[in-house]
Amino acid sequence: MVTKTTATILDGVAIANEIRAGMAEKVAARLTVGKTRPGLAAVLVGNDPASHVYVKMKRKACEKAGIQSFYHELPADTPQAELEALVAKLNADPAVNGILVQLPLPKGLDEERVLQAIDIRKDVDGFHPLNIGRLAQKGRKPLFLPATPAGVMLLLERSGVKLEGANAVVLGRSNIVGMPVALLLIEANATVTVCHSRTKDLKNVCAAADVLVAAVGRPEMVRNDWIKPGAVVIDVGVNRIDDPESEKGTRLVGDVAYDEALGVAGAITPVPGGVGPMTIAMLLSNTLRAAELADG
Ligand code: NDP
Repeated sequence: MVTKTTATILDGVAIANEIRAGMAEKVAARLTVGKTRPGLAAVLVGNDPASHVYVKMKRKACEKAGIQSFYHELPADTPQAELEALVAKLNADPAVNGILVQLPLPKGLDEERVLQAIDIRKDVDGFHPLNIGRLAQKGRKPLFLPATPAGVMLLLERSGVKLEGANAVVLGRSNIVGMPVALLLIEANATVTVCHSRTKDLKNVCAAADVLVAAVGRPEMVRNDWIKPGAVVIDVGVNRIDDPESEKGTRLVGDVAYDEALGVAGAITPVPGGVGPMTIAMLLSNTLRAAELADG
């Protein structure tokens, strides 16, 4: 039941567009002074339809920002050695500043070994074990932050929430989202609870959160009585559900029941239009940083 809207809507599209415009200006400025054009190589293995969509969006965003985009599409049965050889080739290519291996990889490929093969200075997804390890250690700084978690933190910053001492709850503990978000929140001096599929009394744990980050991949799981009045809610989930009323017969929803949450949260990200665009903006920003690192 929705009574009235209280939440500020955190417009990821607007923030991401600002960042992307800034990127395009910085890339243009590099070229003016004779520096190299930043380059991002995307590697896509297999036929996961969502991965194809994500890679296409990332490549398009690169091109718009003036970043050169390289693309390698490999079949799902690509041998491990062949994929690692491609990564080694990209590591050695000076035109490639950032390497993005789209996850998840098809079954049979060792994701950790592939990520480890990426030159840490080109690890624009921030998933190299060294970068993640540094993120997990106090006082150490990774070269790159994973794009989605970095986007979540920027949205929180823009929401004006004071993270120091805040109770933050992260729903989900994946390597890609939940865990790095939790580590970044700890670094920002929040008190962090990480929930997962075995957490008991999830609703009440969430309802104690000043900041709630949902990254479970379960459509509209977080209802309005899971949200503390005034809490900041960041919805990372992207779930396609049936919708006979829409043209396509489906639509995207987050992990949070958005319409309900609007009446109780202090601020909330929509899906689509919240975290997703921020992820792409952060990837571009990491690629520019990689090019600057390569400048020496
Ligand atoms: P994963 O499937 O890797 O992880 C899901 C996490 O949620 C796991 O830790 C799992 O627990 C937990 N979980 C699943 N079901 C429940 C439940 N019923 N109760 C409590 N915890 C549960 O997903 P990702 O982290 O990769 O992605 C999460 C969502 O974010 C997806 O919808 C994905 O599409 C979206 N996403 C969006 C991005 C964006 O840019 N907007 C980028 C990346 C992802 P356990 O560990 O115990 O299994």
